[in-house]
Amino acid sequence: MIKEKLAQIKSGKFTAERNIQEFLKKIKQEDKKINSFLYVAKKEALKQAKEIDKKIKEKKKVGKLAGLAIAVKSCISVCGMPITCASKTLENYKGTFDADVVRKIKAEDGIIIGLTNMDEFASGSSGETSAYGATQNPKALGRIPGGSSSGSAAAVAADFCDIALGTDTGGSIRNPASHCGIIGIKPSYGRVSRYGLVDLSMSLDQIGSLCKDVFGAALMIEVIAGKSEKDPTTYDEPIKNYSNLKSEKHFRIGISKDFEALCTDKRIYKLVMEKTAELIKKTASQIININLKHVKLAVQTYYPLVYVEFFSGTRKFDGRRFGKKIEETCGEEVLRRILGGKEISRAEYGGQYYRKALATKKEIAKDLEEAFKKVDIIISPVTPRLPHKIGEKISVEDMYAYDAFTIPANLAGICAGVVPAGEIDKTPVGLQVMAPAFKEDLLLSVLNEL
Ligand code: GLN
Repeated sequence: MIKEKLAQIKSGKFTAERNIQEFLKKIKQEDKKINSFLYVAKKEALKQAKEIDKKIKEKKKVGKLAGLAIAVKSCISVCGMPITCASKTLENYKGTFDADVVRKIKAEDGIIIGLTNMDEFASGSSGETSAYGATQNPKALGRIPGGSSSGSAAAVAADFCDIALGTDTGGSIRNPASHCGIIGIKPSYGRVSRYGLVDLSMSLDQIGSLCKDVFGAALMIEVIAGKSEKDPTTYDEPIKNYSNLKSEKHFRIGISKDFEALCTDKRIYKLVMEKTAELIKKTASQIININLKHVKLAVQTYYPLVYVEFFSGTRKFDGRRFGKKIEETCGEEVLRRILGGKEISRAEYGGQYYRKALATKKEIAKDLEEAFKKVDIIISPVTPRLPHKIGEKISVEDMYAYDAFTIPANLAGICAGVVPAGEIDKTPVGLQVMAPAFKEDLLLSVLNEL
């Protein structure tokens, strides 16, 4: 439990150095099998840990994350560390500055323990598109851990770190959190600075947290949230003490037949509804059926937007400034997006795809906005099926369909989080809670009750 560990570190009963050493030992022994880290920051982490312990000994004030080991997804810049985005394109690229989120973590005495494996340039839902090999699901060996924040989720689930950062464009924090049986939070769009993030899609991406407990995930959001001069898409919205919320009761919970219809594995829907029933009993809440008639178009709406924005974002990887030329070094999925994005951008003279996708994005956001007039939160499954076996060939359509329930939150810019609901076939299954934009306090108080 993060809260207890923090108290022990701050009181000197357990040292930051020991915390880091224990994780390093475990990573060394077990990560060959899991493949969750692309870089382990052994020296840097131990040095920082000693400095923190010294401050504690000298009774100096330490930060909110004092001595905790934080794993960072390999698309978020950490000065001096290899920011590869799990691609050969950036194989030798090192971060030249700290992303806003990393700067904030360090300022609160969090310790960066390493950089995690991921789908190449965050393009994927399984972790298998990494140029450095797939990551194992520590909670269901042989299966994918989900993606694209595959290594971040696996590192948390395997006890290789206290908290991890992931990024979520269409579900990349929530999907692996679900498959690995942990907590994952995608904040509202504009809540957390993306300065220093190699974007998949600048209009959808958000950096968020993964952790074994809600307290740790919430504490990380509290630390990284806030307006940044360096990211003009951030908002100056009040940040609450998310890790220390009073528990609320009586939620109006929205559920939708539109999600149920999209859930290919009906056992998942049933399990999520059982967990919802427990929440209702515990918090004296009520269920309200809501109509989300456009969510069935979420996947088709999302991909044209991502393809075009990704294509545009990757023009800087032309082999001159950063790494190698992307088209010559990337994997199949990344190339599909670049070529697809190029085509769609051309076809835009007729407003054929991108503008249509933008119009449908608005409809999906409107459905959710209408729903939130009647309910406080919405509950749904996280993925429509269980994670497949590593290496099992699944179609592009099936791979994209993993995000059918998570994409709507990105399209609408709202916040959402995942908690474990239980297991099916010895594989973890999560439950998703969605809340209106900038209502992270409401979201987290519900997650606390689950
Ligand atoms: N699986 C989705 C995609 O491939 C989402 C990725 C993400 O959220 N980064 O685009």
